[in-house]
Amino acid sequence: MKKKIFFSLLALLLFFIISLHLPIPKQKLNPAPVLSLRILDRGNNLLREVLSDEGGRCRWAEIEEISPDLLKATIAAEDRRFFRHRGISIPAIARATFQNLNSWHVVSGASTISQQLIRNIYHFRRNIFSKLHEAWLAIRLEHTLSKKDILVQYLNRISYGNQAYGIEAAAQLYFDKTAKMLSLAESAFLAGIPRAPSILNPYSAFDLSVKRQRLILHQMLALRFVDLPKLNRSLDEQLQLIPNSKKFRAPHFCDYILSQFSYAERQQLSIIRSTCDYSLQKKVEILVKNHVNALKDSGITNASAVIIDNFSGEILSLVGSKDFFASQDDGQVNGAISLRQPGSALKPFTYGLALERGMTAAAIIDDRPIQYSTPKGTYMPRNYDKKFHGQVRLRTALACSYNVPAVRVLESLGPEALYLQLKDMGFNSLSQGPGYYGIGLTLGNGEVTLLELVQAYSSLARGGKWLESTAILQVYDSENTSKMTQGIRKTKNVFSPQVSYILTHILSDQDARIPAFGYNSSLALPFPCAVKTGTSKDFRDNWTIGYTPNHTVGVWVGNFDGSPMFNVSGVTGCGPLFRDIFLTLQNNIREQEFTKIEGIIEIDICPESGKLVDKNCPGTMTEIFITGTEPKIKCTHHQHVYLSQSSESKTAQMDFPATDLAITYPRNGDVFKIDPVLRRSYQTVRFVASVPKEFPIDRFEWWINGKKKSETGTQSPYSWKLQPGLYTITVLARSENRVIKSRPVFIRVLL
Ligand SMILES: [Zn+2]
Repeated sequence: MKKKIFFSLLALLLFFIISLHLPIPKQKLNPAPVLSLRILDRGNNLLREVLSDEGGRCRWAEIEEISPDLLKATIAAEDRRFFRHRGISIPAIARATFQNLNSWHVVSGASTISQQLIRNIYHFRRNIFSKLHEAWLAIRLEHTLSKKDILVQYLNRISYGNQAYGIEAAAQLYFDKTAKMLSLAESAFLAGIPRAPSILNPYSAFDLSVKRQRLILHQMLALRFVDLPKLNRSLDEQLQLIPNSKKFRAPHFCDYILSQFSYAERQQLSIIRSTCDYSLQKKVEILVKNHVNALKDSGITNASAVIIDNFSGEILSLVGSKDFFASQDDGQVNGAISLRQPGSALKPFTYGLALERGMTAAAIIDDRPIQYSTPKGTYMPRNYDKKFHGQVRLRTALACSYNVPAVRVLESLGPEALYLQLKDMGFNSLSQGPGYYGIGLTLGNGEVTLLELVQAYSSLARGGKWLESTAILQVYDSENTSKMTQGIRKTKNVFSPQVSYILTHILSDQDARIPAFGYNSSLALPFPCAVKTGTSKDFRDNWTIGYTPNHTVGVWVGNFDGSPMFNVSGVTGCGPLFRDIFLTLQNNIREQEFTKIEGIIEIDICPESGKLVDKNCPGTMTEIFITGTEPKIKCTHHQHVYLSQSSESKTAQMDFPATDLAITYPRNGDVFKIDPVLRRSYQTVRFVASVPKEFPIDRFEWWINGKKKSETGTQSPYSWKLQPGLYTITVLARSENRVIKSRPVFIRVLL
């Protein structure tokens, strides 16, 4: 009986010893395939190399392709008895096993390089027996491979953090050189990382990594791998760590591209050629950073920008935040695809719908107080300038971004019509039904993204043709065969070319904006550009979106945490950044003029009534109409009334009744804004009066707030320097024995 047990044990031992000589299966040791995915810009410049989570690496490095210093540093750091043991270190295993059994959980023990390699190949779930299993395989490994080959396998598979697997990937990532070219100092630095790649991350814990590097260098001296002079030279060497930003070019652009593929799809791809123009992207990144820094006193910490090529719908540049690598201010949030309230930025589409249904740019809309009862209570829309402007033309209402007219127009169209139009134009973010947003939709109560806005505006530049924007030109699979090219994107007509033309004409009309935004604002560019601004409730978000025939540019500024800015409007917030981006684009391609199209006619109208101009109207302006919708009747607002001689006073007093002497500019209720950049002395308003030709004028007098400011001779215009405040303006016309006086005009000048 005892004999039987003895022989069974002996057989078992023999079997175990033989098992230690079983080789590790060959396929386990094959070099892992190259699994990186490269994202290129449109000119084939590398933006990012994405290594797969597991086994991704640049290239398998053979021993002669690795710096001897790195080999030595790795042995000093991880396994100084590497050339002497047979795969395991018995004392270390015993100690680790004892500790594990004792505490009933896994305590890390000193592993040899062979054991670490086994762990890397087999991915054991860690438990108290995995150490023994690992040791058994490590001994088998030593029978399968030479020490040199084990080291090569190890150095090509181990993680060096930041998705760099293998020494070649690590050398490229951190020092931008091959593994062969690493210096002793760099070798010791990299050799220290695999012990704890997330803790010893060179980007977040550089000092800690350097501390470990020094420790390893001293160990190398103790092991006589280096002599003292060489050690001292290495201790003095300044490490030139390649900044993260050099390896993560156009970071939000690349993230956006990757988000369009599942993990499984990504594994099949080797190259994505994007639509990004990297030289432009770099310039926009710098502009965004500089402008946010300049605005920090206004409580602004971030900005985003998107540029689309109108002809192709390709995204040329996408900057998601001020600094992708800034951990404070949420730099990694991509503001170009974040949901935000657009403020007035959706108004052009409301008016576009109205124009489609027969309204004209000369249509008169009421801008007077109005109340709506909604499920949430009474709602009273207000204008940005906190004023009402009486009767305004559609052109002025849109250009000056008045809220009340926009709400009135949407009320007549029905909120559902706008909702369906916006959905049709790719605003997929509007996830609730039309009833949820109601008439507030035109004032921007629904959340959308900057990219959606830019995509929608680009359809106006295309004459009403909507084209799905894209960030990808071509995709190549792992065999480098092109899998996808252009041609499958959605396109449709969302507005007629004529309606698009009228909207463009209004949005590029610098004069029409003046009552709300003043002269020479930062939206003025040296070439025609259609622009719209938007500001969300409580100054949380600030937008400027605009286009030329070639490009559509959208800019957002604000804070990712939603905290408000201080009194920033689209003109002072995004405006200068928007302008600088377009000036940068202009340096590459000359921006063109918008070309006139068929089916549009120009008609002279009365600015106040929007009807055909008559001889008595105080002014005249040219408006454009879709042929057939132009006004047919003459203005009836302005009748000529002669004062009879008998009612005249020869004493020329100030209390004369209202006459047909009228101030034609500015208009009653106009609001001017002082441009903070432009020199004050350049910021003037030109007052103009009209007077019946029959009246023989000696001179005009301009009175402001009851004080005479100027006598201008027989011509009426007077240039007045803008000063903040409220003003009542009247004009007097004097002849030899007669004085007539205009109705007063009230204006307001904002700082
Ligand atoms: Zn008129």
